[in-house]
Amino acid sequence: MSDYQPPLRDIRFVFEHIAGLRDLAQLDAYAHADPETVAGLVEEAGRFCAEAVAPTNREGDVHGTVLRDGEVILPESFQKVYSQYVEAGWGALHHPAEFGGGEFPLLVANAFKEMLNAANLAFSLGPLLTTGAVYALSHHGSDELKQTYLPKMVSGEWSGTMNLTEPQAGSDVGAVTTKAVPADDGTYRITGQKIFITFGEHQLTENIIHLVLARLPDAPPGTKGISLFLVPKFLVDDDGSLGARNDVTCVTVEHKMGIMASPTCVMAYGEQTDGAVGYLVGAPHDGMRAMFTMMNDARLGVGLEGVAIADRAYQQALTYAQDRRQGRAVGAPAGEQSPIIMHADVRRMLMTMKAQIEASRCLTYANAAAIDLAHAHPEPATREYNQKLADLYTPLSKAWGTDLGVELTSVAVQIHGGMGYIEESGVAQHYRDARIAPIYEGTNGIQAIDLVGRKLPYDNGDFVRSFIADLRTTADGLAGEELASIRTHLTDALDVLAETTEWLLSQRDDVQDVFAGATPFLRLMATVVGGAFMARSAQVALELRDDAAGEERDFLDAKLVTARFYAEQVLPQVHGLKHQVTATARDLFALSPAQLGL
Ligand SMILES: Cc1cc2nc3c(=O)[nH]c(=O)nc-3n(C[C@H](O)[C@H](O)[C@H](O)COP(=O)(O)OP(=O)(O)OC[C@H]3O[C@@H](n4cnc5c(N)ncnc54)[C@H](O)[C@@H]3O)c2cc1C
Repeated sequence: MSDYQPPLRDIRFVFEHIAGLRDLAQLDAYAHADPETVAGLVEEAGRFCAEAVAPTNREGDVHGTVLRDGEVILPESFQKVYSQYVEAGWGALHHPAEFGGGEFPLLVANAFKEMLNAANLAFSLGPLLTTGAVYALSHHGSDELKQTYLPKMVSGEWSGTMNLTEPQAGSDVGAVTTKAVPADDGTYRITGQKIFITFGEHQLTENIIHLVLARLPDAPPGTKGISLFLVPKFLVDDDGSLGARNDVTCVTVEHKMGIMASPTCVMAYGEQTDGAVGYLVGAPHDGMRAMFTMMNDARLGVGLEGVAIADRAYQQALTYAQDRRQGRAVGAPAGEQSPIIMHADVRRMLMTMKAQIEASRCLTYANAAAIDLAHAHPEPATREYNQKLADLYTPLSKAWGTDLGVELTSVAVQIHGGMGYIEESGVAQHYRDARIAPIYEGTNGIQAIDLVGRKLPYDNGDFVRSFIADLRTTADGLAGEELASIRTHLTDALDVLAETTEWLLSQRDDVQDVFAGATPFLRLMATVVGGAFMARSAQVALELRDDAAGEERDFLDAKLVTARFYAEQVLPQVHGLKHQVTATARDLFALSPAQLGL
């Protein structure tokens, strides 16, 4: 039996009571995504992830990737599982029907992604990058490019990559120097080197479609001079069959701390010829816009990685805590060792994990639903509102989700004691795997700057003010004894969020102070937003509880207690964060680099 249990009941709860799947299914675009159909689909997806994918996780970690004669060899089990993934069409869930996709809401596709991430994070990165490439191409590619490439990418028969990073161009994407020169036949010749390219080379698919940022000869400096190109590993003939090998090669595969089986490649373009053949995607010098289409999806996807891996580590820690006996718990009979789950400190760790996993799942799913509404709602005003909401949520999902991924997998290691530090237990892998997520897809520091620099100022701050007012409505609606402390703590945390938001908005002329407070503010805001979702969950659980029995009743009781724990023990962190947000940059720059030394 798999050691991963797909969190189907919680996903159903979030679909129904937090993310509004039923409302999405009322829209013409998603009429086929009724909750019953989706429940069956997600159950089947969970079975695939738990039974087929999860058992490959350890092999991937141990085997890693091997580069032989320019080819990257992945663990043996990956090929079989990838074929099953393509055959079942899991990668196509959200993509346009025109190219073979299922056109399910992103919300539904993301539930699948969460389970795939949890089952095997390294494996899931191939599909994540392919999905992003499909979005970029379907929004910005010419009809010819779409017809040639999308059907096979949507099905997963061909995979996709995202090539931004170069040694001198990491967070600073505008520093990209890869060159693209127009050829006589309307194509381009690409030369340059990209580093850290996920699934840049592998044997799982017969072709790999690279999306590459490069500069045209007349490009202005910075991000305004970057164009996007499609560079296939194998050129595609007019009849759709694979033609000559393109001049793109994997030079090295990085040795990493985690996600061992995800090939992180140094890619060379145009080393053997006058350049790899590339096709322009979108308008010249407009590559960043196209790339953002890809990155926004990937940012939410990476946020989900944190949630997913924390959940898998939680499941493992929970099992261990019931099996491992040490010490005598308070009130236990003398002479017996108690399961460590009976110790208050271990309970504290488990509850810390459970509460924040549930809160961050709510946020990431609500984020996906906002994207769906922004895409498919018939009312322009609703579309516009939800686009702004999704823009606000995305840096929170990415940075908070992934920071929690690292923190909570670390807690899971702690619950295992010394065994947590030993590779055989398997929990150390989750911790190592989780560590990349705050770094790639825009570091979490960059997410925080995006939040305070671009998202808070929407409508001169009025958008975020009305968003906070909506959260207050949730708090005000918490009635009765059982919700009283949740209401008190949420109201208090909302006051802190409102004050810090106003402080940041009032400091707009002092950019350094705003940037200095960005990361603690992101944490503060995400913690409060998560708290509002938990409060809503508690309210629903209370409403449904009296009619429920057995396991359903236990589940709803647990929702209430978990929300109360979150309100009383997680939300008060906002007070410490407030001081960090408003401390200004003074002390950050008070010491010279020499004084920062020993
Ligand atoms: C395993 C792995 C897979 C990856 N996959 C891909 C991929 O598929 N495609 C791809 O293109 N790239 C990929 N990357 C690259 C990844 O996106 C970058 O590593 C990341 O964007 C950070 O860039 P950097 O490493 O150059 O760090 P730097 O940009 O040098 O950042 C170093 C530190 O400085 C901070 N910093 C930098 N600039 C600022 C600023 N303006 N303000 C405040 N702080 C700042 C950062 O937050 C960070 O803490 C991958 C990386 C890894 C390790």
